[in-house]
Amino acid sequence: MTALLKGKRGLVMGVANERSIAWGIAKAMHEAGAELAFSYQGEAFGKRLEPLAASVGSDFMVDVDVTDDASLDAAFEALEARWPTIDFVIHAVAFSDKSELTGRFLNTSRANFKHSMDISAYSFIEVARRAHPMMIENGGTLLTLTYQGSNRVVPNYNVMGVAKAALESATRYLANDLGPEGIRVNAISPGPMKTLAGSAIAGARKTYKHTDQNAPMRSNATLEAVGGTAVYLCSEAGACTTGEIIRVDGGFHVLGMPQPDHL
Ligand code: NAD
Repeated sequence: MTALLKGKRGLVMGVANERSIAWGIAKAMHEAGAELAFSYQGEAFGKRLEPLAASVGSDFMVDVDVTDDASLDAAFEALEARWPTIDFVIHAVAFSDKSELTGRFLNTSRANFKHSMDISAYSFIEVARRAHPMMIENGGTLLTLTYQGSNRVVPNYNVMGVAKAALESATRYLANDLGPEGIRVNAISPGPMKTLAGSAIAGARKTYKHTDQNAPMRSNATLEAVGGTAVYLCSEAGACTTGEIIRVDGGFHVLGMPQPDHL
C-alpha cells in the first residue's frame, strides 16, 4: 500500500479523536503517501486534532460546521488557495440528538429528523458541489461513511437509519452526475465501532458484542481495515468503482441468523 496514494492530496472531514473512523482513514492514507488537510467542528475538537494532524505531517486544519454554508465556503476557499486541485474528500460526519437514538422510531421529532438529515446526508451534497471544481482537472474520489441500519432495522439506530438510506442514495446520484468528469463517489459501510458517535446509540455495547461474536470473521471492523478500504477506493486500484457501498463488517451483513452458540 505504501505508494498507492503518492502525489495525491485531499481533505479529511470528521476527526474528533484518535478513535474516529476518519482518523483510521487519515492514518492509512498518510501511510499510502497522501498529503492531508483536515476539517474539524469547533475549537475543542480543533485542539484535539492538532497533534494528530501534526503526526501525519499536516498543518492544514479548518473549522467547518456542515450546516453552515458560509463555513463550508470559507473552508473550500482556503483549501483551494493552498491546493488548486485535490484528489479526494473523506466525509465522515454524522449527528442525531442522542435522546432519539433510543426507544421507538415512531417518536422521531420533525426538528431532529431535519437536523439529522441535514448533517448526516445533505451535507455530502454540499461538500461534493464545492469539491468537484477542484477535481475536474485530474478526476478524484468522494468518500462517505454509512451503516447497514440504512436498509435493515437496527434497534435504536432510528432516524440515523433513514439518514443513511438518503446518504447511500445520494452517493449513487452523485456518482452518476460526476462520473463523466472522472470523479468517483463511494461509501464505506463498517460494522459497529467504538467511537464518540457510535456510543451515542443506545445499547451500543451490546450491538458491538453481538456483531463481534456472530460475524463470519468473528470480529468487528477495525480502523486499519476501514482505512485500507479507503486507500483502495481513492487509488487507481479503485478506478472502475463508483456508486458503491463497500461493507467492512467482518461479513455480518450476510447472516440470516446468529451463530447457534449465541442464540
Ligand atoms: P466520531 O464521533 O468520531 O465522528 C463524527 C464526526 O462528525 C465528529 O468529528 C463530529 O465533529 C462530526 N460532526 C458532527 N456534526 C457536525 C457538523 N455539524 N459539522 C461538522 N462536523 C460534524 O464518530 P465516527 O463513528 O468516526 O463517525 C464517522 C462516520 O462513520 C459517521 O458518518 C458515522 O455515522 C459513520 N459510521 C460509524 C459507525 C460506528 O459504529 N461508529 C459505523 C458505521 C458508520
